[in-house]
Amino acid sequence: MRCIYCNNPNSKVIDSRINEETNSIRRRRECLKCGKRFTTYETVELNPILVIKTDGTRQPYDINKIKSGIIKACMKRPISMAQIDDMVTEIDRQVQSTMCQEITSQEIGELVMSALKKLDEIAYIRYACVYRNFKDVTHLLHYLKLDFDEENKIMEKQMKKCPLTANDDKKTNTTKKTTTKKTTTTKNKNKRQ
Ligand SMILES: [Zn+2]
Repeated sequence: MRCIYCNNPNSKVIDSRINEETNSIRRRRECLKCGKRFTTYETVELNPILVIKTDGTRQPYDINKIKSGIIKACMKRPISMAQIDDMVTEIDRQVQSTMCQEITSQEIGELVMSALKKLDEIAYIRYACVYRNFKDVTHLLHYLKLDFDEENKIMEKQMKKCPLTANDDKKTNTTKKTTTKKTTTTKNKNKRQ
């Protein structure tokens, strides 16, 4: 495997991770000449997947294309290469586990966007800009507003549903009430005496 920086053919493997689900091995390599590090993926090609583009044409599924799109979106953001690699591995796992021979570019785009959204909002917006192909700023802002409003609604629902926090609130309230009652009764008693 040639070094992607200096083209030197010799590198050493510094880390290997086996992904049982996708039957793939991810290797972190270090160039013996320039010392720079890069990652290689080794997979068994059981089921070649085709990507259906919006115009209906097909292209072979290529995880490296997805990765380079993510790298562009994450440019100058506080995201490490390891985080990007983890994200790419997870997206690849999701694509491979569908066991479909064809996947639409839209489905891939959605997978990438949901992964980026969890990691970095700016990178997510950048990716969405390229992917959704907004006509102008108004179109973009409208999309983002809808998107984040939807998320807030889900968050609110989850907060309401969460029985732990709800019970905790009740408990603190009841304790406070009982303490106040007790003090009032003692005060009353004192008055009577
Ligand atoms: Zn090198």
